[in-house]
Amino acid sequence: MWTLVLNSGSSSLKFAVIDPASGETRISGLAERLGAEAASMRLDSDGVRQTHSLNGGSYAEAMRLVLAELDALGLRQDVRAVGHRVVHGGSRFSAPAVITPEVLEAIRECVPLAPLHNPANIAGIEAAMNAFPGLPQVAVFDTAFHQTLPEVAYRYAVPEEWYRQHGVRRYGFHGISHAFVAGEAARMLDRPVSDLNLITAHLGNGCSVSAVAGGRSVDSSMGLTPLEGLVMGTRSGNVDPGLHDYLARVSGLTLTQITAALNRESGLLALSGLTNDMRELEEAAARGHDGARLAVEIFVYRLAQGIAAMAVALGRVDGLVFTGGIGENSATVRAATLARLPFLGFRLDDAANTAAVRGQSGSISAPDSLPALVVNTNEEWMIARETAEVLSLTPR
Ligand code: ADP
Repeated sequence: MWTLVLNSGSSSLKFAVIDPASGETRISGLAERLGAEAASMRLDSDGVRQTHSLNGGSYAEAMRLVLAELDALGLRQDVRAVGHRVVHGGSRFSAPAVITPEVLEAIRECVPLAPLHNPANIAGIEAAMNAFPGLPQVAVFDTAFHQTLPEVAYRYAVPEEWYRQHGVRRYGFHGISHAFVAGEAARMLDRPVSDLNLITAHLGNGCSVSAVAGGRSVDSSMGLTPLEGLVMGTRSGNVDPGLHDYLARVSGLTLTQITAALNRESGLLALSGLTNDMRELEEAAARGHDGARLAVEIFVYRLAQGIAAMAVALGRVDGLVFTGGIGENSATVRAATLARLPFLGFRLDDAANTAAVRGQSGSISAPDSLPALVVNTNEEWMIARETAEVLSLTPR
């Protein structure tokens, strides 16, 4: 059987048609800059990549193109379910949910917690319900994996009323990826995930570390929103909570402007004054660009601190996993991070680390080290698997 996986953003649509049992991907694609003149869609199938201009096309047009492609491949009738990535499930969802009017309403109630993401996810669900009226639709939440956090990890030291009435607590994100790579790491270490205490570092444009004990998340560096924690591409990660008030007074910026800048104009981009792209930063740092060097250094310092914090949550650490675009490809970031963590028992195998690029999973630690692994994440496959599982669909 095939599952259609949709990841809908405010101006993007990522999709894949996947066999949940094997992970085989029949077709995948990414539509970007939807609504703008430069809107386009990239399609990959049978090892061939095509790019279509969408000419200012909207989300609905991207969806029509997906359907046309499924028809052209004779795939539409073989798709048995649609799995949607939904960013915020609040405290309500600790597992994937078959979408009913009531579930959709609950996702809508989480909009204040993720005002940029959840509306786009809801639009994607509604478009897919129109396009595939007969198919079950499933929401797979980025927060659900972290619903196992203990209270000691998820409560902030703030007035209780904020928590009770407004849901001010830590939720954690990237759960689909953290759960997937923890499972893969257990397979690579040839041990049941239930026996392992793992630290997983998802390092893409957004970055978070998670503590996974026996396959369950017990802490995450991300909190109420995906802004907390590590330094990211354009996000600041942790700042002093007093910053907002101070800056509003001295600069006249509004809360909305400050929040937007902390999300979109901070992180690696701000520190380097150059770019949010780690690969470009490494190249610039190697050429002697001071801002790029500082950005990478601070990124690594805060990442190592985040990993050490996850060790506190676990008590005993059995391994560390790097994933995401940076985690899977940047030998430099991995080496510099492990170099800051000898007290946890990590020692790098230089040759293995240098070889582990271009999305190849493998070990990068020396024989006398705690295992450090690079794992290729596959969030689409995880969504397909969870979708099939919640629907009890049988494999092809
Ligand atoms: P997203 O979170 O948007 O899915 P990715 O997981 O693709 O993003 O990660 C994007 C990041 O990975 C960028 O900072 C990019 O520069 C970085 N990256 C990709 N390839 C390399 C590489 N070879 N070396 C260093 N960084 C890389």
